[in-house]
Amino acid sequence: MNRPSKRSFADPDTLFTLIRSDTPVDVDGFKLGEPTGEVECDECGQSAAAPEYINHLPDCSQADVRSEWYYDIHKQ
Ligand SMILES: [Zn+2]
Repeated sequence: MNRPSKRSFADPDTLFTLIRSDTPVDVDGFKLGEPTGEVECDECGQSAAAPEYINHLPDCSQADVRSEWYYDIHKQ
């Protein structure tokens, strides 16, 4: 099975959680259950606005994961 050397955020074998608000809109500006735009690495627990901005822990195996748009804007 051919696999690309770069892994994408969208690959099914990468593990990230889209963080959803667990508080009402008047607390953090997001409705209860609404995605906050932050994504959390399931392996090391670090979070950021996008996978490529996550400051992974040194031993995290997902530290090389980037999203597709990141490749699109950096490929030239
Ligand atoms: Zn990580």
